[in-house]
Amino acid sequence: MNKRQLFNRAQYIYKNVPVYYNLAKELGIDPDKAKEFEDFPIVNKNYMLKWGSSCISPEHTVEYLQGKLISCRTSGSTGQYLEILWDETDYKKSLIELWMKRVKYYNIYPHNRLTYFFTENGQDGLFISGEHELGVCKNLLTDKGIETVYDKILQWNPEWMLLQPSSAAILCSYVNSHHVRKPEALRYIEFSGELLADEVRRMTEDTFGCAVADQYGANEVGSIAYECPYGNMHVMQSNVHVEIADENGNLIETCGQDGRIILTSLTNRAMPFVRYDIGDRGCIYKNTCQCGSNKPVIKLASGRANDYIEFSEEERAGSYLFVRILDKVNALTQGAVRQYYIEQRDYDFFCIKICRDDETEPEYIQEKFLECIDEPRLKNAEYQFEFTDELFQVQGNGKYIYFKNRIRK
Ligand SMILES: [Zn+2]
Repeated sequence: MNKRQLFNRAQYIYKNVPVYYNLAKELGIDPDKAKEFEDFPIVNKNYMLKWGSSCISPEHTVEYLQGKLISCRTSGSTGQYLEILWDETDYKKSLIELWMKRVKYYNIYPHNRLTYFFTENGQDGLFISGEHELGVCKNLLTDKGIETVYDKILQWNPEWMLLQPSSAAILCSYVNSHHVRKPEALRYIEFSGELLADEVRRMTEDTFGCAVADQYGANEVGSIAYECPYGNMHVMQSNVHVEIADENGNLIETCGQDGRIILTSLTNRAMPFVRYDIGDRGCIYKNTCQCGSNKPVIKLASGRANDYIEFSEEERAGSYLFVRILDKVNALTQGAVRQYYIEQRDYDFFCIKICRDDETEPEYIQEKFLECIDEPRLKNAEYQFEFTDELFQVQGNGKYIYFKNRIRK
């Protein structure tokens, strides 16, 4: 999509989709008078969350009411949960470029046997068996469950696996410590969902002896970037337009300078995303790569502005542990948590603030939260809950804070 088409699309969306129409009105922008794509503002997750079903395009409202749109939820890695809707055809379209590359680089087709991992949702049980895929519930990735999981994977004998780096690390450590064989047909592993550390990549390559590649995606827009065999994450330009902006929303034009990642979906028509702040940070390079692609390369910056959890003076853990708990709670409660914020007040004391939907009782969310904790030190800690019906602002220097360590502050 060229710059003019991009502008036309944005202008159309600003004139027709209520959430954008209202944003323009609030900011005193007349979509008809906009001249450049960049004249449209950057919109964040909190704003979309506030407007709920007004984020759906009028053309898709009937399908929405008939329950015909695909619905998925974002991960809570920004502290906010947004229900994302897709028209099925658009959704398939958003994956075309990714599939073409999987075929080109690794000879992986949709009919090749796949193993993937999913978050417990209270409906699907522990395994989902499809014609071409085996889904495994992440709850089984524990000392107790891993043997069953791995036997099942060996039986299925996948040709490829889709893994979050944290799941890959658990599988690798099981295979290495128990000296079990690898799935014979396995020839490709794709990472997504979390930032991929070098050591996890190396461990996975060494353990499974197959090709690996990293993919950066988000439920809002689908696939954003995919790693070529030369290690560069090329932007999926047929699916998404990527910009980098500073804290004030000004575009960063300098290559390699970190900023907020701003996305415009080129395929999601049911719930359009125009200049949307996804909550990740990174930079863009524009150079030709040995793979022959001249598409911009995206590099994600590690970590958001969240602190570490501290269990003692020496023991720390990533606050991502809480994202996993809340993701699970939300899967089990069909999205009862809209936003959350956690403060650590002592090594074993946490305050949890949750904005809930009005259909679910606070006690039920609280119960599920406590059930979903699997880290022993978090299990033994004490929790204080606060529930609200209103979305809230978190005061912090970073924009997307969901966890703050206040032991000494
Ligand atoms: Zn490349």
